[in-house]
Amino acid sequence: MGDFLGEDRPSDLPRVASLTDPLTFTPPKPVPNCSECQRYVRLAAKVAGDGSASTDVRVLLSRHLTEDHAAQ
Ligand SMILES: [Zn+2]
Repeated sequence: MGDFLGEDRPSDLPRVASLTDPLTFTPPKPVPNCSECQRYVRLAAKVAGDGSASTDVRVLLSRHLTEDHAAQ
């Protein structure tokens, strides 16, 4: 019949990881020789277990990159 085409993967497989999941979200790239960036990197490592705190750090780093490094 062909019904299987729409059910070709087991239902217990995880969905495609959400791109906005704070645990899998790829942080913006810090600039290696910028002490401010490195400060955020260290901060991010420090709060790695805390989802909302690490999201905050990424937001701050992202803003810093945009404002101080004119990130695309
Ligand atoms: Zn920086």
